[in-house]
Amino acid sequence: MTSYRELAEVCEELSRLSGRKDKVAAIVRFLRRLSPEEAGHAALFLIGRTLPEGLEERLEISWATLDEVLENRGQQTLEAGSPPTILEVAEAFRRMAGIKGKGSRERKKLILSSLISRMTALEKKWFTRMVIGEMQHGVNEGVLLEALSELAERPLEKVQRADMLLGDVSELAMRVRARGGEAVDEVRLQVFRPIKPMLAESCESVEEALREMGGEAAFEYKYDGARVHIHVRGGEVRVFSRRLSEITGSVPDIVGQVREGVSAREAVLDGEAVAIGVDGRPLPFQELLKRFRRVHDVEEVSKKIPLKLRLFDILYLDGRDLLDEEYSRRWEIMAGVVDEDLLTPRIIASEPGEAEEFLRKALEEGHEGLMAKRLDSPYRPGRREKLWLKIKPAETLDLVIVAADWGHGRRTGWLSNYHLAAYNPETGGFEVVGKTFKGLTDEEFEVITKRLLSLKLSDDGYTVRVKPQIVVEVAFNEIQRSPKYRSGYALRFARIVRFRDDKRPEEADTIDRIRELYLRQFERKSLA
Ligand code: AMP
Repeated sequence: MTSYRELAEVCEELSRLSGRKDKVAAIVRFLRRLSPEEAGHAALFLIGRTLPEGLEERLEISWATLDEVLENRGQQTLEAGSPPTILEVAEAFRRMAGIKGKGSRERKKLILSSLISRMTALEKKWFTRMVIGEMQHGVNEGVLLEALSELAERPLEKVQRADMLLGDVSELAMRVRARGGEAVDEVRLQVFRPIKPMLAESCESVEEALREMGGEAAFEYKYDGARVHIHVRGGEVRVFSRRLSEITGSVPDIVGQVREGVSAREAVLDGEAVAIGVDGRPLPFQELLKRFRRVHDVEEVSKKIPLKLRLFDILYLDGRDLLDEEYSRRWEIMAGVVDEDLLTPRIIASEPGEAEEFLRKALEEGHEGLMAKRLDSPYRPGRREKLWLKIKPAETLDLVIVAADWGHGRRTGWLSNYHLAAYNPETGGFEVVGKTFKGLTDEEFEVITKRLLSLKLSDDGYTVRVKPQIVVEVAFNEIQRSPKYRSGYALRFARIVRFRDDKRPEEADTIDRIRELYLRQFERKSLA
């Protein structure tokens, strides 16, 4: 049984090492010492996660709770007993995620104190960072996958793909530790096992998209909705969100549209759920997420905010894995089994003018823009590459709230000025690029204040620092160089457009993206 202390020591070592190769080697050495089951949990712990994706959100340990337990240490006599093992820590998280309802805070505190009272300062340090989700030792999922690739003796690309198909890096680590490279070779797409959706890079214009994609591309409407993967087998339909949680029960209308409009024995389809208003135009995204979280009165709400499914890809059909087929071929196959009115409108164009016209039409109908797709591209689960490019005329950034100031005047009692940060994949930390109190309704101030307080790390009476967890989409007028922030950049006239609860904090825009947008401003200015 390996102790959690050993993991904390490795984290300490990782934060001292600066080279990526050295970090990978240290992780490999550590995982080799562990049993498969331990390796599975350790893989998550090393990258600042407590539970596999889908379960993590249920843990709900607030900083206040953790802090109370940590603070208590003086009064409590150090519980006799051995230091907690990795498996004990994992088991504790699993139990805490299952606790709900009245008295749950106290019950979680008990579990936490029985662990923490047996930890030294070093373990506490890394345990806290892990629960907060910000390790600051420069090891993200990418580095971990490199380590697994070495451990499995398989190319990184294969390991990345296995990870995306499994949708759970702890499961992958466990299998690799148990069966080496074979475990990687064996991973297949399976109906009803959710996989990560393919993602897109941003681009400026249809011209740029055409240039990137070799002169010709597909242009699809980019809907302002929420991503869904639909799995079908026989009469059973199951729907998964972008974060791989199952939402079938909340979206009977989507399930109905699939039953009606998809004629396949077995299929995995990719698309967007769009909320439709009474006038037939799309409703704001916020309304839509309400539907996704809904567990009560589902029928009633689905009448008020009906969802419309729009499909744009197929990954599996009747026993055949289609991930490596070309986009054009996949679309053809999809069109063969999906009713026309469920398909996303699209054109294939090589003329910028034609694509431009299509973009105008999409915007007029109230959608976000276009998605350009390379005609010969495979489906790469979970990858953000230039095979898909999003063209959104109104540029926004997805940023994480890391702190907020107490409001005054009309906003007394609310946390109102939000410190917005971009993700730094190098360190796994978040760097502030601006602040704003603009864009929210009173009701939203109320709600977000509550959410932020449950994530509180510290409060000096003026600013409350919070666990980096809430992702918001932010509009702005300009990016400036600024010595005020460590990131070196500041957004001018930032305002919150909406919450992006469908994104994990690590999926926020990166500091590199901010740099890129900053530099691009000059290109535009010098052209003007
Ligand atoms: P973003 O969330 O801004 O990074 O944009 C990517 C998201 O756009 C995807 O995850 C989908 O939810 C959404 N989307 C809307 N329309 C499409 C489309 N035609 N193809 C792919 N993704 C789309």
